[in-house]
Amino acid sequence: MNCIYTAKYLVSSNAPPVEGGALLAHAGQIAAVGTVAELKSNNPGVAVVDFADALLVPLLVNAHTHLELTDFPDWVENVGEGASPENFVDWILRLIRVKQKLDKNQYQLSLSHGILQSVAAGTGAVGDILAHHAARHLYQNSPLVGSLFLETLGQDPATICRLRNGLSEALKDEVVGLVELGISPHSPYSISQDYLKSIYARCQHGKLRCTTHLAESSAEVEFVQRSQGDLASRLYPYIGWEGYIPLPSGQRPVEYLQQQGGLFPENLLVHGVHLNNAEIETLADKKMWLALCPRSNATLNVGKAPVGKLHRAGVKLALGTDSLASCDSLSIWDEMTFAHRWFNGELDAPTLFSMATQGGAEALGLEKRIGSLETGKSASFQILRPKTTVAADEIFDYFVSSGCTDDIVQVYHRGQPQTIDKIVTD
Ligand SMILES: [Zn+2]
Repeated sequence: MNCIYTAKYLVSSNAPPVEGGALLAHAGQIAAVGTVAELKSNNPGVAVVDFADALLVPLLVNAHTHLELTDFPDWVENVGEGASPENFVDWILRLIRVKQKLDKNQYQLSLSHGILQSVAAGTGAVGDILAHHAARHLYQNSPLVGSLFLETLGQDPATICRLRNGLSEALKDEVVGLVELGISPHSPYSISQDYLKSIYARCQHGKLRCTTHLAESSAEVEFVQRSQGDLASRLYPYIGWEGYIPLPSGQRPVEYLQQQGGLFPENLLVHGVHLNNAEIETLADKKMWLALCPRSNATLNVGKAPVGKLHRAGVKLALGTDSLASCDSLSIWDEMTFAHRWFNGELDAPTLFSMATQGGAEALGLEKRIGSLETGKSASFQILRPKTTVAADEIFDYFVSSGCTDDIVQVYHRGQPQTIDKIVTD
């Protein structure tokens, strides 16, 4: 059924908002965009839903998350792990300890909570990482589009052989619900060189999307270059990998990844906190996408991504929340707000909005479907009703002020209103 949706302002992208803007939805897609007067006159008799003083805005893209860890704060409390450590390796060790005590069913419940919280936060697409592959069926009835990256990591050949078989079996599904399956080789410090190389070759030949955590911490740089530091001396022995510490590569993370065949644009890189100028140039040259997760970086105390340099060099940027193991919400609105403050305005509000919409969509190969309100794309949008009046020239500033998540009053995925008031986070 056709329907015209309108509000005080329609914000399609980081272009100026349109007062009295509207879209015509037909069969889940946007059939036309214009002013409400134009659409009414061109489509007589079509129902109009007018959200009056609200804003009509595209759904956002969470380019990097781990929704299976949504219940992590509860798990931590239940196992008595206490406050979050401030050191990267301590944080990983705590994550491992908590996960060791979980029942597999807990991942499924946690992932379902993550999907609901994402929808309620106005997210339409995700780049979600799943370590517990058996939980992938939870996406069967989810409205979220995007990529579900099956995580893999390992150092010893026998385990890798078993993981490789399990991964191949799971990847036969290709698509679950509205998400495409891809692979996430976890990071350069947690996967053997041969296995990493084989995954990148497989993704490129099989046209599978991929994502890799890269240059997240100084501990990672030290490990990749010199096979030393906390990862070698504390993480590896803790998980029984002390016999698999690789020989020093002498390379920084980007060079190392390039040597394994990992610099192709469908491999979405994540974090990029510790990139030097030469590495930034390489990523720009290779047309790589980088998902920034500033709240997670702040929580783990790993440093701040060089966003000014990345932006000026032309590295394509998206935003992710990472998981609730290192962040306090799954809202990309909250991530934009934090990023604006954390990067001291080096990324202005329209740029952050663009990263959270078109940027994320393109990073996940979804640019023809979502990321802006244009004819031919999905009729996927959200309605925000600000608590105080927001003028046209204040809208992008409003987007990076805190509170947008609370101002969401309705969410539509492919023309269908979603029930968001039943979201339970406790
Ligand atoms: Zn992550």
